[in-house]
Amino acid sequence: MKKKKVIAIVAHDNRKKDMIEWVTWNWKEFIHHSLVCTGTTGSLVENKLIEKCRENDVIPPDIVRLKSGPLGGDQQLGALICEGKVDMLIFFWDPMQPQPHDVDVKALLRISTLYNIPTATNRSTADFIISSKLFHQEYEPILKDYGAYIKRDLDFNQ
Ligand code: PGA
Repeated sequence: MKKKKVIAIVAHDNRKKDMIEWVTWNWKEFIHHSLVCTGTTGSLVENKLIEKCRENDVIPPDIVRLKSGPLGGDQQLGALICEGKVDMLIFFWDPMQPQPHDVDVKALLRISTLYNIPTATNRSTADFIISSKLFHQEYEPILKDYGAYIKRDLDFNQ
């Protein structure tokens, strides 16, 4: 991943307040990167960053808003991670409430693990990631060799 990162941001409804606090606290970090968010989280994050950037007369970062999580936004994000288009995931999921799209949430966390991208599922981990010196450097996550699975696909298609 390059110095300029693509950061995915997602928060379940009960965690959105926490997420906006975290984004507000760290707003200066985001102006050097670009963001991709699920729909509702994205509009809250965008409003807050535009507000902070206007106050300080700086250009806000690019923000891509996907569909809302329950409408497929988590799956869109998973697909972007598979394509190597997302460098890290900050995902404040709600450990106290079942979600209509629980299977998508599980899939997203599986894919972020599979592709070995830094993933924070709570604020303290997000703090550690954003304050890491690696956050400001180029970094190549080591990927496990899944060549055997690709071979299996080929055999299946014959
Ligand atoms: P939202 O989706 O940002 O559209 O609320 C988040 C989620 O529930 O995964």
